Amino acid sequence: MIRLTFYIILAIMIALGAAWISSNPGEVFISWQGWEIRFTLAVFVLLAILYTAFILAVIRLLKWLNFTRYFTSPERLAAKRTKAGQDLDRAWSSYALEDYADAVKFGLRAKAKLGEDHNVLRLLASATRMLGEDKNPYLDTLKKSNLSTTWVDKQELDDLISQKSWSRAKPLIERMLLQHPKNGKLLELNFICNTHLNQWQNAKSVLEDLSKNNGSIDPKRLKRYSAVIDYCLALEAKAAGQKSESHNLLKAALKNDPTFSAAAMAYARGYIEQNDKKSAEKVVFQAWKHSPTNELGELFSELYPIESASETYRRVKRLVEENPSKPESRHLLAESAINAQKWPEARQALNDLINNKRASKKTYHLLALMERRQKNDLKASEEFIVKAEKAEMDTTWSCTTCSAMPAHYTPHCANCGDFDTIRWSNV
Ligand SMILES: [Zn+2]
Repeated sequence: MIRLTFYIILAIMIALGAAWISSNPGEVFISWQGWEIRFTLAVFVLLAILYTAFILAVIRLLKWLNFTRYFTSPERLAAKRTKAGQDLDRAWSSYALEDYADAVKFGLRAKAKLGEDHNVLRLLASATRMLGEDKNPYLDTLKKSNLSTTWVDKQELDDLISQKSWSRAKPLIERMLLQHPKNGKLLELNFICNTHLNQWQNAKSVLEDLSKNNGSIDPKRLKRYSAVIDYCLALEAKAAGQKSESHNLLKAALKNDPTFSAAAMAYARGYIEQNDKKSAEKVVFQAWKHSPTNELGELFSELYPIESASETYRRVKRLVEENPSKPESRHLLAESAINAQKWPEARQALNDLINNKRASKKTYHLLALMERRQKNDLKASEEFIVKAEKAEMDTTWSCTTCSAMPAHYTPHCANCGDFDTIRWSNV
């Protein structure tokens, strides 16, 4: 029926065309290299129609001779695949060299030859993602197919993590874990995700899964993570009034990581609250061996408010012998000597640092303080303050990701949000 309509319309158009030509007579004149041909318009139109018919007949003939076999021959297809493979190789090379625009260019060449091939689509989706485009049609195509589910999920997961959308990342990780339950990378991400959602108990059970999975996480990192989780659980327990639970968790944290001075601080404070200052002292002694910090020193010096400055100095002197060369030890000793007006001892402690080229701002600030307290020499004091400005930075809490400098250790950096990146260090 459609064909018939088409032929009728065609016949009408030809008739109208013929009528138009006969009522508008004219000539077509062709001149080329001295040759000249003249037609009437009607003859020219007739020739054009015949020529078209001839071309169509030739195409039919070639089809009948199975000429297209040439285009679909195995050799030709193989050659096409090889070329596409080369394009894809170049695309991945550009991707590796972070030239994502080039990666898309060669990826599209490969796509022109291979069509909706999954490997090509993955390359295009990855490169488009790296270019930061709002729309990613290649990823959308992959999402619709079910062959690349995990790969597509991982792309989505990376996006969610870079946006820090932890609550949306969590169900996705859990779904991926159903297919790859022992994947160390996924388990670790699950752990990190739980910490960001403050779900410490969940984080702890993920760590247990990780520890059963030999080799999927560095044992040292596993221990550190366990320590931090126990520390977080301890703070939670303490806030809920469960003191002994909190105490045991902190003990476990320090067992896993004796250098964890924030846990040592909390552990010692727990003893102080129970008025067991001797045990608190022991905790500080242990922690001082591994990682002395200013706040531990402060806590130690202020343990007994009624003791004399000389008594405090004697206690501090015993403490710093645990780790004598550390600047934290020298500074603590000097501070307590200044308070006890033991000027030669204070000066000695600070000069040790200067002689060993380990002096920092604090070293000169303490020297300045001494000049004021001992001799009321404001000029000398001012000179040390000028020196302090030019001196090295003091050791401090700082984030290994964003270099923020918080006053205390926190499990998450308050500035960038990263987990367990706050360290006591020189920046
Ligand atoms: Zn940070």
